[in-house]
This record gives sequence, structure tokens and C-alpha cells, in this order.
Amino acid sequence: MRSWTARFISGFCLLALTLWPLPAQDRAVIDQKLAQAIDQEIEKNRAEMVKVRRFLHMNPELGNREFETARLVAGKLTSLGLEVKTGVAGTGVVGLLRGTLPGPTVAIRADMDALPIQELNTFPYRSLNPGVMHACGHDFHTTIALGAATVLSAVKDRIRGNVKFIFQPAEEGLPPGEEGGAALMIKEGALDNPPVRAIFALHVWPELKVGEIGYAAGYLMASSDNFIITIEGKSAHAARPQEGIDSVVLAAGVINSLQTIVSRAIDPTEPAVITIGKIQGGTRANIIAEKVEMEGTVRTLSDRVRERMPVLMENIIRGLCGSYGASYSFKYEKGTPPVYNHPDLVQAMVPVLEKALGPGQVVPVKPQMVAEDFALLAERVPAFMYLLGVRSPGQVSAAPLHSPYFNPDERAIPVGIRAMCHLVLSALEQQASLKGTNSPAITR
Ligand SMILES: [Zn+2]
Ligand SMILES: [Zn+2]
Repeated sequence: MRSWTARFISGFCLLALTLWPLPAQDRAVIDQKLAQAIDQEIEKNRAEMVKVRRFLHMNPELGNREFETARLVAGKLTSLGLEVKTGVAGTGVVGLLRGTLPGPTVAIRADMDALPIQELNTFPYRSLNPGVMHACGHDFHTTIALGAATVLSAVKDRIRGNVKFIFQPAEEGLPPGEEGGAALMIKEGALDNPPVRAIFALHVWPELKVGEIGYAAGYLMASSDNFIITIEGKSAHAARPQEGIDSVVLAAGVINSLQTIVSRAIDPTEPAVITIGKIQGGTRANIIAEKVEMEGTVRTLSDRVRERMPVLMENIIRGLCGSYGASYSFKYEKGTPPVYNHPDLVQAMVPVLEKALGPGQVVPVKPQMVAEDFALLAERVPAFMYLLGVRSPGQVSAAPLHSPYFNPDERAIPVGIRAMCHLVLSALEQQASLKGTNSPAITR
């Protein structure tokens, strides 16, 4: 059950989410002169951005430990003349670029953390940090946001309002017992002062080619919850099963039956995944196992299905354990909600991306069952996260995210910077062209 506060906040956010104004067609994209100025700045900074990305890739840092990354980010933003706050949610950095013209504030979010993976690539700029790798492309995300800050600073006399750059730690999860990530960034005011009216983020995507962007209106990514099931039977001699309660046989039944939730208990048009990723039990071959522990994850794309999952799971566990005379414990922990892209914002921004990237390059994608804590930011303000193609042209398939061979094509960096610049400038233009920046239509 969600708390009353959570219900209030989501009700409130729902209100905020319905308030993104639809643009008139002629306001949808930025003018040609500004687009050219952006391209010139990207060209000027292209080599430097690749250098930044390679430095980050060679020096990856785990969640809540992004000390050098944060130092580089803060140094770069300060040198561009932004108002910079460091130490937000631990190692997070927030930079505010004030445009010369008055207007509201929109944000770009980038995550900075790497993964505990030993890199197996052999290129010269591979990770220098043993067992740690930017295998989810957060080095790209950080570089692209810094690139957008660089380019937008150069055209700030044309910006109607402010652009906030939110560099977030610990997207991939937290060290045990620590707080962090998007939740703590929100708690420590990253979306306030000035309040953010819309937020953009991208995730590199190896299934799409360089030059392509994938988008989804509504759900883009799934919720992610975790669970631990412990089954306790009774040990006995392996040859005298009648004297024990076999927790291994019982666990096998539980594993199989849990899969029937997805196939039999929920609407087949609603995506859901139950995965048991770890199982441990027993002591040796000739003893009936007394105890089995299983850990897993649940992914869904709707609150309705998500709320039912722990109930349906426990019904199965309780029923099977009861019939065997075993006891159990079931811990279900809610993680991040699904990533929800504000449909009106997406509808307003797809023509902007098409103009920036060219015809046929902006493609609709199906929702993905991976998760992202950007979802928490998207619960608070109208949001648009899109997928940036990083597969090299001509390459049939690329190493997936979280692979030790993950190797996104750096030619996607200028594409990401161009997309971000066009998005924030157009969003500000659309908002600012309403009467007054404090119009109730855009005040949360
Ligand atoms: Zn990841
Ligand atoms: Zn990621």
C-alpha cells in the first residue's frame, strides 16, 4: 500500500503532468539561425567532448563515490559561468544557466555512476579502475549534458529562461545502508529554486544506429521491485524423504508457479516480468535441504499490475508451503516506479527532434522492461526521456548495456548534444510564448 503522502504527491503530480501546453505548429522548432549557431558550437567543441568522454571512461566511479567525476563536472560548469551547487545528494552537481531573456526553467538530467564490471574492451581509453566500468553509457550522458551546457552558454543571449543541468549520482543502485540517486536529489531541492517546468534525459541505446533517436509517449521503462523468499522445511536423510520436508522440491514448485502469475493471473496485454535471479539452499548431496532462499525482481508497466504482484505472489507461496507443511518468509521491497513520458510534451517535442536529426531518424519504440530512477523526477514534473542510438553504422549488432564489451559509437555524442539543445530551447520558447511566465497554465 502506498502512503497517503505518496498518493497526495502523485495526485498533485498528475495535475502538473496535465498542464504541458500543446504548441502551435509554427512554435514547434527553433529558427534556422539559432540552429546554425548550435551546429557551429558543436563542431567547435566536438574534439574536446570526445576527450571528456574518454577521460570519464578511463576513470569510472561507482554510485555515491563519483568524486572525480563531480569535480570535473563542477569545474567545467563553473568555467562556463553557470551558478553551480556541489554536494547535492552526496556527489551530485546542479548548474544553472540563466538565459538573457526572461522565462521559465527547464532541466537536463545526466547520471554519472559506473558499474562493478571488469571491462574487456582493449581500446587505449579502456577503464583504468579494475572491476569498474562505464558499461551503461553514463560517461556519454555526462559528456552530452556538459556539451549542451557549453553550446547553450554560447547562445545564452537567445535563451528565454533558464536551463538547469542536474548531474545525478548512483542511478545504478546504492551501497548498502546509503541514501542517494534521484530520490535524494529531489529531497535536496534539485527541482526547486527556480522550479523546473519540464525535464529531459536520454539513455544511450545500442539497438538503435548512430543518428537515430527512439521515443515513446507514456511509459518508456518499467518499475523495478525486489523480493526475497525464504522457505523452511525439515532436514532428513536423503534416502528417507518421508521424515523430512524437502525445501528444494518445494522451491521448484514455487518457482514454476510464480511464472503462472504472468501467464494466468494478469491481463495478457499488460507487460510483466518475474525473475528469480539467485537461489541458494541445502548443505550436501545426501541431506534433504532444510532451507532455500531465493532473490528476484519484478518489472511492470502499470501501477495496477504492480500493486497486485506481491499479493498474487504471496498467495502462491503461502498455498504451496502450507500444503507441504513448511514455513516461509516473503519480503517484497518497492524500488523505482515506471518511467512515464508526458504524452503532450512528447507530442510537442517529436517535430523538434525530427527537425534536428532529419527525416526518418526519430522512431517510435516499445516500452522497455529495464528500469531507470529518472522515473522519480518524471513523477514530479513533465518529463521526456528518449533513447539515443549508439550502434555504429554497418554493425549488425552491438554489445548490450551492462556488457563488459559495451562500446558505444562516439559519433553519437554530437547527435545527443544537438538533440538536447533543440529540445530545451524549443521547450522554453513554447512556454515563454504563453502570456507571462507565471501563467496558471504552467505553474505547478
Ligand atoms: Zn544501467
Ligand atoms: Zn543507465
